[in-house]
Amino acid sequence: MSTLPPAGPARPRHATLSGSRQRAERDHAVLSAGAAAVLLASSVLLAAPGSASAQTVRPTTPGSSAFTAPQAAVPNPGLVQVAGPSPYKLPDDAASAQAFVAMAPNLLPAAAPAATPEPEPEPEPTPAPAPAPGWSAPVPDAPTSNPYGVADSEYAAGYHTGVDFAVDPGTPVLAVGDATVVSARWDGAYGKEVVLRLTDGHFAQYAHLSALSVSRGDHVPAGERVGLSGSTGNSTGPHLHFEIRTSNRYGAVINPIAYLSGHGVTAF
Ligand SMILES: [Zn+2]
Repeated sequence: MSTLPPAGPARPRHATLSGSRQRAERDHAVLSAGAAAVLLASSVLLAAPGSASAQTVRPTTPGSSAFTAPQAAVPNPGLVQVAGPSPYKLPDDAASAQAFVAMAPNLLPAAAPAATPEPEPEPEPTPAPAPAPGWSAPVPDAPTSNPYGVADSEYAAGYHTGVDFAVDPGTPVLAVGDATVVSARWDGAYGKEVVLRLTDGHFAQYAHLSALSVSRGDHVPAGERVGLSGSTGNSTGPHLHFEIRTSNRYGAVINPIAYLSGHGVTAF
């Protein structure tokens, strides 16, 4: 029992040991701090631009590396996978044997250009109101230069017996309806003249023509050329003098514009 050390002295030894351990831990902490500083310095050196070590920094910028899948094994981060010449399928293709290949966005095949939409068809120009079948203006869309019915002492009737259209010489003049050619000849003050008998019994007269395109007895459909405009006969200048007559004689006339309008012709 005398070998047992007294309880008293053990406490100071423990305290001394404990103090030593504390010093050791303190020294270790200092060493650790120093090592950290060295490591930090090493890191700085590794990252120094221009050094060989700097080139081992792993690419982290999205799109700069082929290995963008987080869990993908990266055998050598310095390599950039290049698409080979052999055909491959995209990862979303379940049937592909190479579905595991993660492709960088900048290496993916260029998306097929969006199909060019068919160009909108040009809107058809609004057609002029079509005349009723079988009817035409004598010179479509030509302006009138002298209307029907105005007082004019130059005419035996005392007024203008037709309508004048201002057209250049040589403009085709058309049958206003299906008709038979009554006459195609020179007719005094009217110069070269064509008279048609329309299917409804009215007569159409074309005067001051430069050329005749039909002969007496011809049958002509609406829109057929019967001659070319001119300035023959008693005319002060190139124009078409056009009349509608109720019978084939001078002065038996009606308003030709009103007559053609009644048949759906509006191209004046
Ligand atoms: Zn006239």
